[in-house]
Amino acid sequence: MLNWAGNVTFRARRVHRPSTLEDLRATVAGSSRIRALGTRHSFSDVADTTADLVSLENMPPAITIDPVASTVTVAGQVRYAELAAELDAAGFALANLASLPHISVAGACATGTHGSGVRNTTLPGSVRRLDLVMADGDVRTIGRGDPGFPGVPVSLGALGVVTAVTLDVEPAYEVAQTVHLDLPVAAALDNFRELVSCAYSVCLFTDWAEQVFTQVWVIARTDEPEPKIVREPWFTAQPATRDVHPVITNSAAACTTQRGIPGRWHTRLSHFRPECTPSSGEELQSEYAVPAAHAVPALRAIAGIAEAVHPVLQICEVRTVAADDLWLSPAYGTDTVTIHFTWIPDERPVREAIRLVEECLAPFAARPHWAKLTEMSPDRVRSLYPRFDDFRSLVREYDPVGRFANPFTDRYLHDGSPA
Ligand SMILES: Cc1cc2nc3c(=O)[nH]c(=O)nc-3n(C[C@H](O)[C@H](O)[C@H](O)COP(=O)(O)OP(=O)(O)OC[C@H]3O[C@@H](n4cnc5c(N)ncnc54)[C@H](O)[C@@H]3O)c2cc1C
Repeated sequence: MLNWAGNVTFRARRVHRPSTLEDLRATVAGSSRIRALGTRHSFSDVADTTADLVSLENMPPAITIDPVASTVTVAGQVRYAELAAELDAAGFALANLASLPHISVAGACATGTHGSGVRNTTLPGSVRRLDLVMADGDVRTIGRGDPGFPGVPVSLGALGVVTAVTLDVEPAYEVAQTVHLDLPVAAALDNFRELVSCAYSVCLFTDWAEQVFTQVWVIARTDEPEPKIVREPWFTAQPATRDVHPVITNSAAACTTQRGIPGRWHTRLSHFRPECTPSSGEELQSEYAVPAAHAVPALRAIAGIAEAVHPVLQICEVRTVAADDLWLSPAYGTDTVTIHFTWIPDERPVREAIRLVEECLAPFAARPHWAKLTEMSPDRVRSLYPRFDDFRSLVREYDPVGRFANPFTDRYLHDGSPA
C-alpha cells in the first residue's frame, strides 16, 4: 500500500479495519504497536509503521451537530468534504478548510493542517474535544480547558486512536473567490501585511520562473466589506477572466469556482473540488511555517534562490495562519506565514532543493510541516517548539508502553531509539 503521492510504501505487517468501537478497542489492546491511518495524504512517513495499521474507514461515519453549543462531533475518519456538505445543509460552517477537502478530520488535525487567513487558525485550532482509544483499549475524552489539552489535537498519531472530534462551528456563510494574475514580488513584499489581510483568506502563488506572484487568490466573505486593495496603485495584478489552476498548465476543472462569483463557504475555501484530483497529482511537497514578523525577509531570501529551486518546482504557495496555543502547531504562539513548495516527483533533486530552502530559511525559525518532506534534523525541529518536552511527557502519560509509536515518532521524540 502506498500513500497518496506514491513516495511512501507502507511497511505495516497488517492493516486492521474494525467496523465497531468494540472491535477497535480490542484491536488496539491486542496489538503490540499500532498506528491509525487516515486518507494517506501525508508525504512524510508520519503514518507509516513496521507493525500494525488501523484504518477507521469501516466505522460509522457519525456527524452530530449541536446548535446550542455551536459544535459538531464527527467520527475521526470522516473527510472534510463529507463534513462540510452536511454542516452546510444544516446551516452551519467551519471557519476554514485546507487546499483539499479529501483528507480525514483526525488525520488533518494530527499533523497541524491549515488553510489561509490572518484571522484563521490551523484546522486543529477549531478542536474543542476529542475521544481517543488509549493503549489499554479504554476510551478517554479530553476537552479544551483540561490539563494537557493543548498537546492533544496535533498529536502526530502518538497519543491514541481518535474516534471522534468535536469542532467549533458558526452559521453558514458565502464567499467570493477572485484570482488576480501577475503581481511583482517586490510590490507584494513591500505591502505584504496589507495584501494578506485584505480579505478572509488570501493565497499567493509563484513558480519562481520570474520575480512575480503569478496568482493572488482572494477569498472574501460576502458579509464583510469588499477588499479595497484592488484600488491601490501598487496592486497591478489583473483579475483572471477564466478559472485557473495554480499550476497554470493544468486544467482548472479541478479547481473551485473563481471570477468573484459568490457561493457557499465549502465550495470556495478549498482550492480543489472533492470529486477531482487535488493539486497536480504527480508531486512531492514541503512547507515551512515562519513567524509573521520574519515573513518578508524569509520570502526575500527564497526569492534569492529562485533560479535554483525553479527547475524542480511546480508551484510555491504563501499563506497565513493565526497564532494558536497547540504545542505542536505550526502557528504555536505566533501569527504565521507558511511557504509551501509543490515539487516535481523526483526525490533526489527535490531533496537537494529542500536542503537549500532549509538553509535559506534557517535564520527565520521555520517549522517544517509534519506531513511533508524535510531534511531538518529532529534536534533542530524540537528546538522550534517551546513545549516539545511537555508533548514528550504527554506521550509518556498517555502511552507509557509506546503502543502508538512509529519510526517517525521514534525519530522526533527519542532520536531514533524505539519508545
Ligand atoms: C494534494 C495535497 C494537498 C495538501 N494541502 C494541504 C494544505 O492545504 N494545508 C496543509 O496544512 N496540509 C496540506 N496537505 C497535507 C495534509 O493535510 C496532511 O498530510 C494530512 O495529515 C492528511 O490527512 P490524512 O487523513 O490523509 O492523514 P494520514 O496522512 O493518513 O495520517 C496523518 C497522521 O494522522 C494520524 N492519524 C490519522 N487518523 C488518525 C486517527 N483516527 N487517530 C489518531 N491519529 C490519526 C496518522 O497516524 C498520521 O500520524 C496536503 C496534502 C496533499 C496530498
